[in-house]
Amino acid sequence: IERTLSIIKPDATKRNLTGKINAKFEEAGLRVIAQKRIKLSPEQAGKFYEVHKARPFYGELVEFMASEPVVVQVLEGESAITRNRDVMGATNPADAAPGTIRKEFALSVGENSVHGSDAPETAAQEIAFFFSGLELV
Ligand code: ATP
Ligand code: MG
Repeated sequence: IERTLSIIKPDATKRNLTGKINAKFEEAGLRVIAQKRIKLSPEQAGKFYEVHKARPFYGELVEFMASEPVVVQVLEGESAITRNRDVMGATNPADAAPGTIRKEFALSVGENSVHGSDAPETAAQEIAFFFSGLELV
């Protein structure tokens, strides 16, 4: 059993898609074990996406992530990290497989509805970024 950090991004919260996205996770065998709706400051969004600091889209990404509330959540399940990335689909919705969250809901490569951790180390870091031990049972 593994855990991963998921974020339902501003384009999706704005369109009231949290329930539909959570249904995709549940159908894929992932359990939402912690969840909260928060609004990131540009500083917090910048810190979260610090690994992308040198990328040309960094400024746009940070501005987007701080533009509207997001839903941060911890998903649990067998191989949760890869399972979540499979159900999310490719970063660019144009490349995403049918049935994936990004294929069904994402608007563009930037406004792509969800984030998911990409490895065990980043999952642990990203979960700790948003949740305290007391919030995780
Ligand atoms: P995430 O990290 O959000 O789960 P990912 O791992 O599929 O997505 P990354 O390469 O880590 O993709 O990029 C992080 C995020 O930066 C993407 O989800 C997307 O919102 C944004 N992004 C990536 N490439 C571009 C681009 N070419 N133009 C605009 N935004 C982009
Ligand atoms: Mg990534």
